Amino acid sequence: MDYRDALKDKKRIVIKIGSSSLTHEETGHLNLEKMERLVRLLTDLRNGGKEVVLVSSGAIAVGRKALGLQHKPTETSEKQACAAIGQASLMTVYQKLFSEYHQNAAQILMTKYTMIDDTSRINARNTFEKLNELGVIPIVNENDTISTDELAVGDNDTLSAIVAALIHADLLILLSDIDGLYTDDPRKNPDAKFIELVPELTEEYISMGKGAGTTLGTGGMKTKISAARIAADSGADMVITNGNDVENIRRILKGESTGTLFLAHKIPHFHLTNYLSGQEE
Ligand code: GLU
Repeated sequence: MDYRDALKDKKRIVIKIGSSSLTHEETGHLNLEKMERLVRLLTDLRNGGKEVVLVSSGAIAVGRKALGLQHKPTETSEKQACAAIGQASLMTVYQKLFSEYHQNAAQILMTKYTMIDDTSRINARNTFEKLNELGVIPIVNENDTISTDELAVGDNDTLSAIVAALIHADLLILLSDIDGLYTDDPRKNPDAKFIELVPELTEEYISMGKGAGTTLGTGGMKTKISAARIAADSGADMVITNGNDVENIRRILKGESTGTLFLAHKIPHFHLTNYLSGQEE
């Protein structure tokens, strides 16, 4: 069976875009052209009958720019203030762009607690279901303004996998600032080899996921590997691809070999709550 070909039939798709893919590298300001292309593509997927959820970072990055902060905020209250400003601003841009295509978009902000608590988890799932029935594209982020350490998922790679598991998505696409998984960090090791397919998340692959970080985002390859574990166990395939070109999403859904594909291995009796405390392993 051709695993890439099978991606053409995926129906419920979660797509995660990180701060470094949403912003201009030189200035840290939003890359509107890229956002426009992303929004157009997502709307078109929805028009073509796919169910789409977008997990978007960028709240802290946008808030930081609005305040003209020169440094990357490190203190919790400062990050939360930036997120409070930036999240609203980010959603204004998304709403404007989606409305150009007459596509309704909604905001869903979650914390780890949303998943731990049975009632809020079920409420969140029902909201996703209803939005989907209504033809709306949910845009998800962590509720950074209230996520103190115990409540924080912490990074949107993991959050997007949690969302994929929650809504029983069949595919998770992580738009990253790297093409996918390599045997080693390609920015440091020129001999690092690209991995096209991860049939099963063995120790060997896990150890390849070193923390190649960026200045804007929170996750490195390590959080992407944790996301792959949650996605695979919940029954969703996952692809890490370069977010520089949002058309990579379409290529993946056409069955083209783009990025690294991690195959799903649904475990019986999957319980999302089991994945919430030990995220960092
Ligand atoms: N929730 C954070 C934000 O929107 C980003 C977390 C991440 O980049 O993984 O700014």
